[in-house]
Amino acid sequence: MTDVMTRAPISEIEDAHTSGAYFKRPLTLVRGQGSTVWDDTGQSYIDATSGQGVALLGHCHPDVAAAIAEQAETFVTCPEIFYNGHRAGLYMLLSSVLPVELNRFFLCNSGAEANEGALKVATLLTGRSQIVATKRAFHGRTMGALAMTWNPKYREPFENWTSRAVSHVAYNDLDAAAEAITDETAAVVVEVVQGEGGVYIADMDYLRGLRRLCDERGALLVIDEIQTGLGRTGRWFAFEHAGIVPDVITLGKGLAGGVPMGAVCWRDSLGTLPQGTHGSTFGGNPLACASAMATISALCNEHLPERSAELGQWLLDELRALDHPQIREVRGLGLMVGIELRGRVTPVLKSLQDRGVLALPAGFNVLRLLPPLVITKAELEQVITAVRESLDE
Ligand SMILES: *Cc1c(COP(=O)(O)O)cnc(C)c1O
Repeated sequence: MTDVMTRAPISEIEDAHTSGAYFKRPLTLVRGQGSTVWDDTGQSYIDATSGQGVALLGHCHPDVAAAIAEQAETFVTCPEIFYNGHRAGLYMLLSSVLPVELNRFFLCNSGAEANEGALKVATLLTGRSQIVATKRAFHGRTMGALAMTWNPKYREPFENWTSRAVSHVAYNDLDAAAEAITDETAAVVVEVVQGEGGVYIADMDYLRGLRRLCDERGALLVIDEIQTGLGRTGRWFAFEHAGIVPDVITLGKGLAGGVPMGAVCWRDSLGTLPQGTHGSTFGGNPLACASAMATISALCNEHLPERSAELGQWLLDELRALDHPQIREVRGLGLMVGIELRGRVTPVLKSLQDRGVLALPAGFNVLRLLPPLVITKAELEQVITAVRESLDE
C-alpha cells in the first residue's frame, strides 16, 4: 500500500485514475487541525473552505476524533432494522436544537441523498407530485436532487433521467412563487442563502411569504439547510432568521463532523413514511451517529452559532471597509460570505492559495468564504489581508 503511494507523485496517480469530474487544484493535502490544513511539503493553509462547508468545528476536533475512535472499536455498522442507542441519542440531540415540531428524521449519507429523501417525504405525505424550486438553486447531483438544481450545465446532460415535475422560479420573487404553487404542488424547496449559486440571501419577508403560500395551498415548505445549517449563518438553522418553521429541512455537510451523513427532518404532524418506501444500508449507522452527537454537542458547548454571528458580522464589516475597486458587493450571513468581484474568481483563488489561504468559488465571479466556526479573529485577519493583496495583484 505505502509502496504504491510512494512510487509516483500522488497527483499523477490520481490523474491517471480519477473520474475526471472534478476541477483539481495542484495541491496535495495530508493533515488538518482546527482551521489549518497542511500539504505534502509541510506548507500550511488557513482552510476558509472548511473542506467545502463540512468542518464547522475545524479539522480533527478532539471530541469528534475521540467519538469516532471509540465507536470504531465498539460498533460501526447497524442497519435501521435494529435499534441502536447512538441513533436514539442523535434523534434526541437533533430534537433539542430544532423547533419542537420538527422531530421526525430519516438518516442518510450525503446532502443530495437528504434532498432525495425530502422529495419522497413530500410526495408520500402530501399525495402530490409537483415541486417548485428556485433559479440559481443548488440541491445536489443525484437525479432527483439534480432536477431541483438550477444550473443547466449540471442538469441538461441528464434530462432524460431527471424529473419534469420541477419548475424553477426566480429567487426572492414572491409573485412568481404565488403563480407557480398550485393544488398539485407537493413542496416548495428553497435555500435561505444560496451557497453554490453565488451567496445570495433570501429576503426574510420572501420566506415568510412562502410559508404563508404553502399553508394556504397545502404544499410543504422544504428548506435545504445542508450548507446553512448547524450554526453556519449565525443561528442554529438559517430559517430562524425569518422566524418561520419549515415543514421539512435537509441537513448534510457538517452534520457528523466530516463523517458522511445527511438527514431529512420533518414535522411530526405530517406523519411517517409507509414501511418500505425508503431506506439506506448505511443510513443512521452508529459511527456516523456518534460523530454527529459529538459534533452537535461541541457546537452547543462552544456556543458556535453565536460565535458565527459575531465573527461573521465583523468579517463582513472588515471586507466592506476594504472598499476595494475589484469588489462589486460583499454579502453574507454569519460565517457564510460571498465577495462578488468585477472579474473572474479563479485567478484570485490561485493567488490566495499562494498566500496560504484556501477559499471557494460560487459561480464565476464570486469568492466564497466558509471558514470553520472555530476560526480565530487573528486567522480571519490573515484571510482579509490575503484577499486584499490578491485583489491588488
Ligand atoms: C453541498 C450541498 C448539497 C449537496 O450535498 P452533497 O453531500 O454534495 O450531495 C445540496 N444542497 C446544498 C445547499 C449544498 O450546499
